[in-house]
Amino acid sequence: MPYHPEIGLIERLAIKWGFLPDTRQQAAEDDYRTRREDGTLVNFPPVEKWEEWVEYDPQAWPKKPVPRHYALVPTICFNCEAACGLLAYIDKGTQTIRKFEGNPLHPGSRGRNCAKGPATINQVTDPERILYPLKRQGPRGSGQWERVTWDHVLDDIGGCIRKAIQEGRQNEIMYHVGRPGHERYMDRVLQAWGVDGHNSHTNICSSGARMGYQIWQGYDRPSPDHANARFILLLSAHLEAGHYFNPHAQRIIDGKMAGAKIAVLDPRLSNTASMADYWLPTQPGSEAAVLLAMAKIILDENLYDRAFLRRWVNWEAYLKADWPDLEPTFNNFISALKQVYAEFTPEFAARESGVDTALIVEVARQAGRAGSRLATHNWRGAGSGNLGGWQVARALHLLNVLTGSVGTQGGTSPNAWNKFQPQFWENPPAQKFWNELSFPLEYPFGCYEMSFLLPHFLKEGRGKLDVYFTRVYNPVWTNPDGFTWMEVLRDESKVGLHIALTPTWSETAFFADYVLPTGHSPERHDLQSQETHAGVWLSFRQPVLREYLRRQGKEVEFTHQANPGEVWEEDEFWIELSWRIDPDGSLGIRRHFESPYRPGEKLKIEEYYRWIFENAVPGLPEKAAEEGLSPLEYMRRYGAFQIPRDTYRRHERHLSPQELAGSETDPQTGTISKDGKAIGVMIDGVTVEGFASPSRKQEFYSSTLVAWGWPEYRLPGYIKSHVHPENLDVAKGEMVLVPTFRLPTLIHTRSGNAKWLNEISHRNPVWLHTSDACRLGVQTGDLLRVTTNIGYFVNHVWVTESIKPGVVACSHHLGRWRRQQDQGSRWSTGVVNIEEDNGRWRLRQVQGLSPFPSTDPDSSRIWWSDSGVHQNLTFPVHPDPISGMHCWHQKVKVEKAHSEDRYGDVIVDTAQSHAIYKEWLAKTRPAPGPAGLRRPLWFTRPVRPAPEMFFVNNSTPES
Ligand code: SF4
Repeated sequence: MPYHPEIGLIERLAIKWGFLPDTRQQAAEDDYRTRREDGTLVNFPPVEKWEEWVEYDPQAWPKKPVPRHYALVPTICFNCEAACGLLAYIDKGTQTIRKFEGNPLHPGSRGRNCAKGPATINQVTDPERILYPLKRQGPRGSGQWERVTWDHVLDDIGGCIRKAIQEGRQNEIMYHVGRPGHERYMDRVLQAWGVDGHNSHTNICSSGARMGYQIWQGYDRPSPDHANARFILLLSAHLEAGHYFNPHAQRIIDGKMAGAKIAVLDPRLSNTASMADYWLPTQPGSEAAVLLAMAKIILDENLYDRAFLRRWVNWEAYLKADWPDLEPTFNNFISALKQVYAEFTPEFAARESGVDTALIVEVARQAGRAGSRLATHNWRGAGSGNLGGWQVARALHLLNVLTGSVGTQGGTSPNAWNKFQPQFWENPPAQKFWNELSFPLEYPFGCYEMSFLLPHFLKEGRGKLDVYFTRVYNPVWTNPDGFTWMEVLRDESKVGLHIALTPTWSETAFFADYVLPTGHSPERHDLQSQETHAGVWLSFRQPVLREYLRRQGKEVEFTHQANPGEVWEEDEFWIELSWRIDPDGSLGIRRHFESPYRPGEKLKIEEYYRWIFENAVPGLPEKAAEEGLSPLEYMRRYGAFQIPRDTYRRHERHLSPQELAGSETDPQTGTISKDGKAIGVMIDGVTVEGFASPSRKQEFYSSTLVAWGWPEYRLPGYIKSHVHPENLDVAKGEMVLVPTFRLPTLIHTRSGNAKWLNEISHRNPVWLHTSDACRLGVQTGDLLRVTTNIGYFVNHVWVTESIKPGVVACSHHLGRWRRQQDQGSRWSTGVVNIEEDNGRWRLRQVQGLSPFPSTDPDSSRIWWSDSGVHQNLTFPVHPDPISGMHCWHQKVKVEKAHSEDRYGDVIVDTAQSHAIYKEWLAKTRPAPGPAGLRRPLWFTRPVRPAPEMFFVNNSTPES
């Protein structure tokens, strides 16, 4: 049936008089429109039309419709970790990318994106982006650059790395990644070089939560099944900004539409809290107390899952260790549990948190009654803000354990069950180095590298870096204590050659020796798989213009030949660099970068992905064959694949006879081991896979923490935060600063060159409760001075009821800057003067945003002048002694600005920041642990070294 759009009288008259074109007939005749045969609307261009898709040019309106012909090429968004699918609309006339919309075939994002997805086009077309490799001229940080060739870059860096390897200085080579991606690609590169050089941003992001999950079950992340939950308990803001937030937000709303209730613990009325059924505005750091009170209610009211607890918790080990005189029966375990948590009454939790007792009880009952359909999530926020934040995640997971909602439909699974990891045709050997600049002895449990302590380690002379890559990483701006980073980065005796791999200028790239333009999301290859829901998927990032040219029969050798300027992709860069490091193969590096299809010849990037798709993705070859495609062609065309795999109750999977062959079963614990590694557990006479902990059970009792000298933390518990009210002097105006929340429309430093996003969000005022505003005598828009332990910043105040009294909050997504001598990102950076006097630093804004001429007419239309305030500079490092997480929350003094203060001022004393680093370092209990280990062998570790490297003397006890 043809489609006849309804139009109003005025529109009909306008058409009649020729003011508007009559598109009705065109619409009816046009088979390219997003309509089915019966005229009903569809959400996305049908996939069979992706090769030839026509839309009318909206910019031609109100003239006669101008059809634009597009090829739609899938890729992946890179603006946060969720890895949502994108479709690039490539204009066949101009052979350029016109826009990005969602990829409906992507199983995680299902065609939907947040504002940052479509804004990828801003990043691609940014007239200020870096288009050519640049080399420093003059002193480091002086802002003088010259264009060089990729050949020059590869020879120079390759020569430095080769020399370091030949001289046994492998630990002086470091690759420091901000936004990862590359499922295992870089692990492979670094292991091929034989270096322990991986460093990441994780300890300023999620290590607190990771430790809490790791110690329970050996998996360091949760994967909640929100869509099928009965109750959703969040210590996060997932409807607007949490980890994997767009895919999670969709499923949270799916669950809500199906009747699930939502509770949110957050001192701030986030968008998520505002949509919840229950908002618990907790005092920052009190969350574990509230969760343990909920656990007590679930126990006292018999809402727990006896069968799950009996089968899957290591309660026998707990009774044996802590209650040796008790008969080891399950009932005695429950009695012991009730005793342990007796002190966590709802009244106690209410006193700690400031949340109503009745509300805590109500939410606890709802969580308990949800049974196996309790979905929970805790990521940054409480887990990353507080000393002992890892116990928040551990206490939250206790609720899943009590309710038997681990690995269930509607419950919360280990992340690894919903994530795909690629395999390769050959694997370089594990490196025989352990880099103590990343994994120092003081932090044996540090979930990831102690990345934010690197400048302090360098200052102390623990080592130096000869070749230091920062990849889409901006520690000067993102990390705490950025001035200490500046001090170290400008010191060539500490950092020899700094290479910034980045699509755009950043505060860190200003202090590089090479700035190498690497591609935005649609300008490179990559694999991504994230645990966004109960399912496993793999998606394929591809350089869309290169793929478009290939479809036209115009193959290019390197991606930079298809990208703007000479923007390259890392994948090819690392292959070429590895060949320059080892041109004759004598170092044994080159062979890892040879083709699996053409022995001895250099690996081509399509061969790398082709091999994985053909050999390592279950079900993909068969699915592709159904359509007459090769696996690589399938991924190039559709961009994503849902991997068929059962994702629920994997711990109950029976071990096969092959798996059991040669294994041993511990008669006491039932743990099944093979080759010295636990592979399963015998439960009720059945051999099953279990979890990834040493006991293969949920470890309520951690013998690991006991063995490593932390017996007081052997059970899920409550650690009073460094910002606990006992540590504040309220009479002196001290408050808690929550600096961790994301804005939905920005993402750390990666969105700085997205003009649409900066137009929407360009200020980060300090949230202050009305009662505190009254006390201080300030109103919205007034200037506040916020003083931390090492300095202060000056910002506007936003007076609101949406924050807990006594707490202030400020988003970290703003405050980008450049100095007079720097280039870059005038969409988002103000100009600043930075002065230093013997470790006393002052940053002062001298010019806000203003219009500028460029090839993009919008740059002359910038109407906002605010670029926000850079608060992270004023934070000392706060490494949690267990998880290694930087504890972001700050004890601050909040007052009216002084007469000399100006908006955006930042004052810092880096000698004081180093002293505070030492204070926190003294909280640790360093390795070696049992048997001389640096770290528990069963803990995960990125880019895992050879087993003997886990021992302080670099050899296993047997060897
Ligand atoms: S949630 Fe938004 S920023 Fe993150 S990957 Fe998806 S579209 Fe991109």
